[in-house]
Parts: sequence; C-alpha cells; structure tokens
Amino acid sequence: MPPSLHAEMSVLHRAIVSLARNEQSDAPPPETSESSAEEVVSVGLARMASRTLPTELAKRFEKIQKKLKARKVGSPRRDLGREILELVDPLGHAGWADELMARSLAALPGVGPKRAEGFARRGLERISDLLFWLPTRYEDRRRVVGVGDLEVGRSATFLAEVKVVDWVATRRGGRFGKIFQAVVGDDEAVVTLKWFRGGEMLGAQVAKGRWLLVSGEVRRYRFSKELIHPEIEVVPAPDGTTEGATPGRSSDMTTSEAKSGATSKTDSGARARAGLGRVVPIYATPERMNPRTLRRLIGQSVDAYADLAIGYLPETLTAARKLPSVPDALRALHRPDSKIDVDAYEAFATPSHERLVLEELYLLELGLAMRRAQGARRPGVAIDASRPESRTAAKSLPYRLTGAQRRVVGEILVDLGKPHPMNRLVQGDVGSGKTVVAILAAVAVSACGGQTALMAPTELLAEQHFRTLTKMVEDAGKGMQLRIGLLTASLPRAEIKAVRGLLAMGEIDLVVGTHALVQGEVVFRDLVLSIVDEQHRFGVMQRAALSGARPDGRFPHRLVMTATPIPRSLAMTLYGELDLSVIDELPPGRKPIETILLRAGEGQRVMELIRETLDRKEQVYVVYPLVEESEKLDLRSAIESAEQIARAFPSHRIDLVHGRLDASDRQAAMERFAQAETSILVATTVIEVGVDVAGATLMVIEHAERFGLAQLHQLRGRVGRGGERGRCVLVARGSSEKSEARLRAMTGTRDGFKIADADLEIRGPGDFLGTRQSGHLPELRIADLLRDVQLVSVARQAARDTIEQDPALAGDPATRRAVRKRWGQRIDLTVVG
Ligand code: ADP
Ligand code: MG
Repeated sequence: MPPSLHAEMSVLHRAIVSLARNEQSDAPPPETSESSAEEVVSVGLARMASRTLPTELAKRFEKIQKKLKARKVGSPRRDLGREILELVDPLGHAGWADELMARSLAALPGVGPKRAEGFARRGLERISDLLFWLPTRYEDRRRVVGVGDLEVGRSATFLAEVKVVDWVATRRGGRFGKIFQAVVGDDEAVVTLKWFRGGEMLGAQVAKGRWLLVSGEVRRYRFSKELIHPEIEVVPAPDGTTEGATPGRSSDMTTSEAKSGATSKTDSGARARAGLGRVVPIYATPERMNPRTLRRLIGQSVDAYADLAIGYLPETLTAARKLPSVPDALRALHRPDSKIDVDAYEAFATPSHERLVLEELYLLELGLAMRRAQGARRPGVAIDASRPESRTAAKSLPYRLTGAQRRVVGEILVDLGKPHPMNRLVQGDVGSGKTVVAILAAVAVSACGGQTALMAPTELLAEQHFRTLTKMVEDAGKGMQLRIGLLTASLPRAEIKAVRGLLAMGEIDLVVGTHALVQGEVVFRDLVLSIVDEQHRFGVMQRAALSGARPDGRFPHRLVMTATPIPRSLAMTLYGELDLSVIDELPPGRKPIETILLRAGEGQRVMELIRETLDRKEQVYVVYPLVEESEKLDLRSAIESAEQIARAFPSHRIDLVHGRLDASDRQAAMERFAQAETSILVATTVIEVGVDVAGATLMVIEHAERFGLAQLHQLRGRVGRGGERGRCVLVARGSSEKSEARLRAMTGTRDGFKIADADLEIRGPGDFLGTRQSGHLPELRIADLLRDVQLVSVARQAARDTIEQDPALAGDPATRRAVRKRWGQRIDLTVVG
C-alpha cells in the first residue's frame, strides 16, 4: 500500500522545518543532514505536485518551494527561514486536515461565496459534507438502450438525435410559464424531453440535428413517453457521419488510419464525459440544485480532499474485517469503477460502505461509552440495600409480583447499594407493572432516610400516580411506610409552598410531580433516587435536571421508565449510557384485548358496544385527538360527542376531561371515574399515558387515523387492566396510505415490540428516531441504526473495548477530538479522566 497522504505530509513537514531552522541559524549546518533533508524535501514536494491536492494546500507548497529555491548556499537569510516556517507550521498542527475539510464550499474552484451560501442553506456547508454525501443510487450507463425499448417507470440511458425543439406555453398552478421541450429519437422511435426551468441555457446543446446521450426516468404522458429534466450530454453522431473519412474507402491507408483513430478518440472522450459505459453515482439533490453541478462538486472534492479524511477504527478491526481505508472507500463510492455490482452498492452492502458506516457508529458508540464510564465514576449515594423494608412492602401488596418485576427490583437494589449513581432504563410494555417496581425502589431508599422524586410527563398522570400510591400505602398499613407528596404547577400556591417546605425538611419520602419538580427552587433534603416515567415525553434539559449533582457533590441514582416500544437493538444505542432492565412479562390473568376497526357511518355499532359494556357494569373511555392547530375544533367535537352520548345513555353518568380543565376539576373527574361513579369518560389524549382504571374495558378511539401508532398502542393499553376482557374500537374517519398501515398493525398485533417495528417501517427511521432521539444523540449521516443493526453492535463492542483501556482517550487525541466534534455540547469530555 502506498504511504498515506498524512504519513507523507509529516515526513515532508519535518524535513522542511529542519531546512528552515538551518536557514535561521548562523552556524553552518552539518553537511550530511542538510543534504539528506534537501533530498527528502525535493522528493516530497515532487510527490505532492503529482497529487490532486486542495487548492489551498497546493498553493502553500508552491510558495514553500519558491522560498526554498531562493536560498543561497553559504549566506543564510533569517527572514527567509522564518517565512518558510510560518508557511509550513500549520501543517504540523494536529487537525490541519480537519480544518481544510471544514472549509466552506467556496474553497472549491468555480464556487463563489453566493453559491456556497446556497449550498450551505441546504445542509451542504463544508467540504466534508460533500465528501460524506454518499450516492443514494447508481445509474447503470453500461447499457445503452434504443429509444424503442424505453419502459415507463424505469431509468434508462439512450442515444438520440434531436428532431424538433420547441417552447410551449403552459399554465401550471395558475401561473403562465414556458416549457422547453425537444422531440428526440433514433431509427425506431421518438420520445419527448421536457424542462420546466432552465431551458434558455440548454438551447445551445439541444439543437436540431445534434445527437444526445440522455439519461433519466421515463414517464408516461398521455399516449407517449417523456422524460422530465433528463441529464443530457451532446455526443458526436454514432455513425461518424460528421466527417467524411470512412475507413476502407480511402486509398491512403495511413491518413485514414490516423483519421479514424482521431475520430474514435474524440468519440470515446465524449462517451467518457457522458458517463457512457460507466456507472454514474446519483445523489439526493436538495431542491433547486442542479444534480450535475452537485455531482461535479462532489467529484472535485473527492479528488482533492478524500486523502485528508482519516479513519478512527482500531486497526485490528479494519484488518479483521478487511476494510478499505477511508479515502479509498470514499473514492470507491463516489467514483465507482465500471465493474461494480450496482445492487450491492445501492444496498450499502460493500466493504467501502461498511468502513464508513462503522467509522460513524464507532464515534457514536465511543461517546456513549465515555458518557457511561463518566457516569459510572461519579460519586453516588450508596444505600443499605439489604434492609428488609422493600421485601416487606412487596408482601403487603394485593398481588404477587411477576417474576420479571422481582428480577428488575433486584437489579435496581443492587445498583442502589453501589457508591456510584445508577443509570438504568426499565422497559416494559403498557400494563406490565412498572409503577410498583419504582415504588419498591423508593421504599428501599426511604428506609435508609433518603428521598425519591418521581417525575411524570403530564399532570393527569402525576395526579394518578399520587392517588394510586397513597391508596397502596394506606392499604398496606404497616407493611409500607412512605410519606408521599404531590407537586404540580397547577396546585394552589400555598400547597406548592407547603410541599416544598416538607421536601426541604425531609418530611416527604417520595414526591410525585411534573416538570414543576425541576422548576424554581425545589430543594431536597436528601435526594437519593430520581425516577422519570415515560421519559420520551420530556425535553433533554428536563430529563437531565433531576440527575444533576446534589449540594454535597454526589449524584442521585437515576431510573428511567418507558413503555414506548423500541426495538431492543435500538434501545441499546438510543439509551446507550443506561443499563437496561426489561419487564417482559404481563401480570397473570390478563385477557388479550380485542381490537375492532370501524369506519365513519358505523356510529350505531359504536353505540351498541358502549351499551353492552355499560350493561355489564363496566366502564368506557371515548378518546378524541387533540391536535394543536385545530384545538378548539377538536375540543368542540369532544364536547358534542359527550353530549350525544349522555343523551343516548341517560341513566349513566359521564364526564369530560381535557387539557383546558384546571387541575382540581380534572382530578375530581378522574377520581369519579376511578371510583366508578361515572361510567363514561370522554377525553382528549391527556389520558394517553399511564392512566390506570381497572373497571374500564372499552376504549373508543375517534379519528383513529389521526393518531400515531405508539399513541394508539398506549391508548389501547388503558383497557383490560383488571380481570375482564378489554376491547378497543378504532373509528377511522379518514384514510391515507400510512394511516391504513397503522390501523392494520393495530388490528394485527398487540405486541409492543412488533408495533414498534411496524411503526418504524411506516414512518421510516429518520422520523421514528427523530421524535425519540430529540437531540441527545449526534445525527448520523451515513449509518442507519436499523439497516446497520449488526454493525451497531460491532461498533459498540469496539468502542467499549477502547474505553475500557483508555477511558478518556488520552492516548489518542485525534479520536478524542473527533468524538468531541461529533458530539458537540452533548458530551462533556472535560470531566472524563
Ligand atoms: P405500566 O407498566 O403500564 O406503568 P402499571 O404500573 O400502571 O403499568 O400497572 C398496570 C396495572 O397492573 C396496575 O393496575 C397494577 O396495579 C397492576 N399490577 C402491577 N403488577 C401486578 C402484578 N404483579 N399482578 C397483578 N397486577 C399487577
Ligand atoms: Mg406507567
């Protein structure tokens, strides 16, 4: 393998520095070292000159060379030495290559500041952005088809002569415009090419009689075929009729040979330019950007900058997996040779793809591993986890813990006994019984005099937790001693003040609340455990708030509970710094929920189902979506529906809860429903997460098509929580491809993880992760946590090994810098090590 650019640069840099130093010093240099340095420099500079380098770098070497030439034997010039040093010095600094790659696109020849700005607005800001903007498709121009063989809906490349050129007036979207169009064809057939914009610029190329190489997707237009904004390239006429020299006719063989040689040469040049016989990379092109310009700029930057990109993967890994270097991988993908397997390239399934994907995942996993290591080293509050209180409390419950619950409580207690803060995620499907697990942890903490905070995403849920817990403690009598408080923003001022006072004095063992817990001056006497329920609902800052250092510098233990079904492989990365506990067992006796899909117009059936349920003395939820932009409207339809149902069932009591009610009214309504004083609860999605009323067995979801899949799954989880069979009615009042797919998934499975997979498939990974990631992980440009599941675990293992040996990456500053750059504010490397 030839030495990498970086290796060559560092040798050259050293040699130039030594020459420049000699030039600065008065003493005549030792003859031998001088001459060998001269040689290294001249060879090195020659090699650099033969490379395609970034303009800035090439210019710098030119200047250095000039100055080196200006030296005179025997009469050193200090100023010259200093100037050379100034020029060469930056190249000795770590990160010079990164700096070059971080330049704006304006550093590329032919890109002015204005254009660079346009690109930057579309996310292509730096040269490195171009380098890693990988082709999404490859167009196979190895095969040129005849115009007669064009198939609608497929991309194709063909040669055709321009027959007619025309401007056609149109009215698109109410605006008058002109389409530039050309009818082109070969001996067999013709096809129309159209340009809605930029036709003026094409006039010179697309002229009658010219031959074009055309590439693009063929569409149907009325009874013929057309290509919109195809890529074109003018090529010489295929039969060589342009010049009269047809080989074999001429008597002068020599001239003829020369001529035909020349013709075929220009011919093949044009063919090469047109990408004929090649596989051409196709890039996702941001709107209003010319695909060919983008491809050209990417090509340029790959030629000049690819060698600057370095890899961070441990060599053992790249060797074991036989991966190409990063520069080679970039070249292979952007400048594919003509023998590639297009399918493998498009599937991101080549060693080059693997290298780049692993590079990206490795930096991601390194950050996670460092964050983990950092957390694991902080001082925490160890409690005596062997005390009997939490076992006693478990015994005093009205039910036996499931095996999974017992296991998870055990895992938590072990963590609580350690002198470093716990960081644990408890994942369990809706209804798996996460709350009681959290409570038992709080009991263990309070037995040792510590406090626990439980933060819920909505006031409704906080209020419910508070109610459930109070009752649980009351029922358990002496078995469970826990002083509980509630803190939400909509409580009366005086009450908030009182609760705060009690917290500060240590008179409350477990405080349940919303983000009000982290606002203002809430002071804990001894916060040992902070629990976040349904953490995906919180912003990053709020999530972090309760796990910050206590006044004594120690960190509370942290427990995160989520029912959001996330495929396990993803959970490991999304919550990479957390340890994972899974409650993979539902309490016994749960009967599977039946899911019924109804359409608009089947309102009668809904009423029947409600009546049946009420006749069995069971309760009903009717849920309306509450979408912000039409909040008032939705509220009105919820109110109307409540009135309608009330009229239909005059002997039953009905309540309406929504986000606009104040806390006490809402709490009272929930209480009435929980006590079965009301039979029907009409609600907006404020009841989505966690609401727990055992007597409710029917869930009617209106406008089910407007809910997300995770939301539907959560809502469905609200019924069938007691011994009775639950039913969930999805009333679809509209339909789209995606909403139908969601509804199909809901009727097809009840398994949260299968739902998550379906969700992912329907929404696509970007969107799916977007809402969950909410900024706590760096963005991935190449890797895809789903497509590359296998590689994620390879990268994670490599990262954990690395961090185990060198927790702060002290021995590898380049990688450390890269991690910091990738993670930005989200990781604090200063505390590590
Ligand atoms: P989630 O995991 O969705 O938060 P909850 O903690 O709200 O679930 O529990 C759901 C219901 O299951 C509650 O009514 C709770 O009392 C009940 N429950 C929890 N654990 C058990 C168990 N081991 N046996 C029977 N019922 C249980
Ligand atoms: Mg819950």
